[in-house]
Amino acid sequence: MFFLETPSNPLTEVADIAAVAEIAHNAGAQLVVDNCFCSPALQQPIKFGADIVVHSATKHIDGQGRVLGGAVLGSHDFIMGKVFPFVRTAGPTLSAFNAWVLLKGMETLAIRMERHSTNALALAEFLESHPAVARVFHPALKSHPQHEIAMRQQSGGGAIVSFELKGATPEQQRANAWRVIDNTRLCSITGNLGDTRTTITHPYTTTHARVSPEAKAAAGVVKG
Ligand SMILES: *Cc1c(COP(=O)(O)O)cnc(C)c1O
Repeated sequence: MFFLETPSNPLTEVADIAAVAEIAHNAGAQLVVDNCFCSPALQQPIKFGADIVVHSATKHIDGQGRVLGGAVLGSHDFIMGKVFPFVRTAGPTLSAFNAWVLLKGMETLAIRMERHSTNALALAEFLESHPAVARVFHPALKSHPQHEIAMRQQSGGGAIVSFELKGATPEQQRANAWRVIDNTRLCSITGNLGDTRTTITHPYTTTHARVSPEAKAAAGVVKG
């Protein structure tokens, strides 16, 4: 099995789904894509050859920070043959109320994702021009290393912007990052994403705190 997260959390690295699908299929493997950051409104990996798509429905599909949920998509045979028996036996089943909330969320998904993408790009462009900022990551930025791939397979850049602050040392960068977070007025400080609220977090010490320093360095998750 090949497993991709594209765009990735938190640096919005983009993988070429069609190219990876071809490599996977030539090796007799299946391609799974975590499509959390785009949601089905901006990217449909199965069209590019993915076999299975997973979503944290907690994020954009709810879109309003109300419930926890997830979705696994794939062929009828895969879902009924592999996923359904597991769900029935092990019990990770949505309550009826949560399912209803997610269905209501999907009614506004497309329009929310479109606005998220526009707003995030405006913020990313502002940050890119700011003298205290070292690097900005958002797939719709022309400076994004995989901008062209992203624009081929996504209809928008998505809601998440990552940025790295300048600082003489990594510790100084961390202090600067925490100062920015503590001084925001509009943002909720939380590791969640995909809410109507604007949220901000410091991945190095929160969402990625349990990842080893080596793995964080390899993924580009730095203190700043
Ligand atoms: C949050 C997130 C997950 C996990 O979602 P849960 O709802 O917390 O299980 C998986 N992939 C990505 C890219 C995420 O951002």
